Parts: sequence; C-alpha cells; structure tokens
Amino acid sequence: MGSITLRAVSKTFGSTTVLRDINLVIQEGEFVVVVGPSGCGKSTLLRIVAGLERATSGHTLLDDRPIDNMPPYHRNIGMVFQNYALYPHMTVYDNLAFGMSAHKVPKKEIQTRIGQVAELLELQTLLRAKPSTLSGGQRQRVAVGRALVRQPHAFLMDEPLSNLDALLRERMRVELRRLHERLRIPTLYVTHDQTEAMTLADKLAVMRAGEVLQVGTPKTVYQQPATVFVAKFLGSPPMNLVRVESRTRGAMNPVGGAEEAVAMPAWIQEGWEDATDENGTIWCGFRPESVMKRRGPGGLEIPITVEAVETLGPRCHVHGSWGGQPITLTAEDGAMWTRGAVMRVAVPWDQVHWFHGRTERRIEPRPARLETLETGGAG
Ligand code: ADP
Ligand code: MG
Repeated sequence: MGSITLRAVSKTFGSTTVLRDINLVIQEGEFVVVVGPSGCGKSTLLRIVAGLERATSGHTLLDDRPIDNMPPYHRNIGMVFQNYALYPHMTVYDNLAFGMSAHKVPKKEIQTRIGQVAELLELQTLLRAKPSTLSGGQRQRVAVGRALVRQPHAFLMDEPLSNLDALLRERMRVELRRLHERLRIPTLYVTHDQTEAMTLADKLAVMRAGEVLQVGTPKTVYQQPATVFVAKFLGSPPMNLVRVESRTRGAMNPVGGAEEAVAMPAWIQEGWEDATDENGTIWCGFRPESVMKRRGPGGLEIPITVEAVETLGPRCHVHGSWGGQPITLTAEDGAMWTRGAVMRVAVPWDQVHWFHGRTERRIEPRPARLETLETGGAG
C-alpha cells in the first residue's frame, strides 16, 4: 500500500482540454472523493491513474515513483466501475478468479484469496451463482471483490453505486466506508453525487470543467466553499446565493429589490469596491440551516416572503423570497411559517458567505492578527 500523487496533470483530446493542471494526493490509508458534474473529467482522471489513458502533460506517482510509463497491470491498482462488467457466463467464483488465473497465480493461492474476500464481503453462499441471479447490491460486492483479490496497492472507483436504487445505494455507501475502515487501502472515488462525496470522503476535491476548484475535508469545503460553484454544489437544499448591491453606504439590497436595505459588516463595506462586478454587485450566501426565525443578536436580518412549506418528517423546507430572489430555509416546525406572510429571519454573520461579484471567489475578512502586524509595521 502507498500513496498516489497527481502532479500538474493535464489531458487534451484533439483541441479539447479535458483536464487542466490537476494536483491531488491520495495519502496512505486515505479515502479521497472527486466530485463534480457529469462531463467534468472524473473518469478521464481515473483512467490516467489506472494507466488506461496517458496524460498529455504532468505525472502520476505511486509512492513518490513516477509510473507514467508503467503498463496498467504492473500498477496493481484495483478498479471498480459503475457497470460492474462481470462475465455473465461465469460463476461468481470464476469472476473473482479470472484476473488471477490470467496472471498465473497458483490455484491454491487463488482459493485462499477468494475465501478471504468472500468472507469479508459476505459472498460465501454466492460463489456458485451466476451474476444474472444476483441482486444489484450483490453484483456490486462481487465487483469490489474482484478488485480486492488482486491485493491492490490502491482502489479506483468510478461512480460504483450509481446503478443502484436509492435505498441500496445508501446501504452500499456504508458498506464501502466500513470496508475502508478495515482495510485502509488508499482509494480514489469519483462521483457526481454530493451526498456520497460528503459521507464517504476523508478528503474531497470538487471539480468543474476539467479543473479542481477546492480540496479539503468535507467539513472545511462545506463551511468555507472557495467559489460560488462549490457553495451551490454541496448541500441539499443548496446554499442561498443572492446578488446584492449597495445604494447607501453600509447597507445592501438584493439587486432590483424594493425592500428596505439591510446592514452589512464593516469589513465588507470597506472592501466593497474591490469585490463587485461591473454592475456593482457581489454574492451574499447563507445555508438554509443557518437561518433562524427569531431575531438574533445582529447578523444578517432580512424579511422573507413565505411561498410554500414542504414537510419532510422531522423537518421542513420553507421556500420564499427576499427582494424577489428565491430563498430556502430548513426548520423543525412547519406550522410556524405562514404561507403569504412576510417573516423576519436572521443569519449570524459568521454563517454568511461572501463571493466576488465577477470572479465568484470567496471573500474572507482579513485575519485581525495580520492587520495588527501590518499596522504595527507601518507605524
Ligand atoms: P466525467 O467522468 O466527469 O463525466 P469524462 O472524463 O468521461 O467526464 O469526460 C470528460 C470530457 O472528456 C467529456 O467532455 C468527454 O466527452 C471527453 N472525452 C472523454 N474521453 C474522450 C475521448 N477518448 N476522446 C474525446 N473526448 C473524450
Ligand atoms: Mg464518468
């Protein structure tokens, strides 16, 4: 076992750039999830690590050794795909044995390894079955088993759960994570499903159009999204993002809204000119779960026109608008929200996100310590 490093990996097909300067490390024992919409380059990235595709530039390293010229088999990286690709005419046992027989692993050794993997994945009673008689979840386990019997240095998984129905997907997600806790094989898992990404990952990389936008723990990426895209992509319901403008100093409105202006923090006012697009607007964001019904002590205080309340068992989603822009918030008690009413809500300032109006990059207050140092230095 070891680590995998992608160093400045780019890939073009003809004149189309599919991957641009990808840098990513999968440490020993780590479960890394790359998440991004369909077509952003996830499968291409995995195929490069597996050796099925060559990078146009940049390097792949296994334990700090470049493996760009190493053929796929010698990399000994197990792959699990979305469409399992099991041989339909072979039994589960033969499916598991196939890769090893082809590479002349002794029969006895094959038996031992299949025994171990079958026990680990609870496939013992299925070894004589044909794939067509198995459920989706069982087939998925066989596909994982087939990668596992090779005793791989690392795992690559390409949307392995997307063919399963919702309930099974949830169960397999837990199984995969549990398996990882036991074996700690470094894993690079790609998916377009943000829930899978958030729940499985030790480390998350969010991709868009061939680029990695942000890498971090799910918590960090969720709490401090680097761009508007990342902010919207993770979380359900997604973050509320409102374009705001400032008509009077220290106050802001949703663009075009006729509502009274609301106060904004001093540090945003100070940096306002540098943060706007050509129309003088910036992005103000807050997550549905950050919205409080009662007026808190300060924070973003806004009037919301309630339009619909969806009840989902333990909580509900309240849909409404602020200055004509859609807002969703989550609440425990739907009865407290009256359709058609204008209700005052508050979001604590430390849960309000700001993004540049043009670049859509996150804006943070300057750390107080740095400011003091700088002032100190100037004086
Ligand atoms: P994802 O897995 O995130 O959906 P892919 O890596 O499959 O994305 O594809 C990324 C982009 O690269 C897509 O626009 C796809 O059409 C293109 N692409 C993938 N493989 C090839 C290829 N062999 N030739 C040309 N274009 C390709
Ligand atoms: Mg894909």
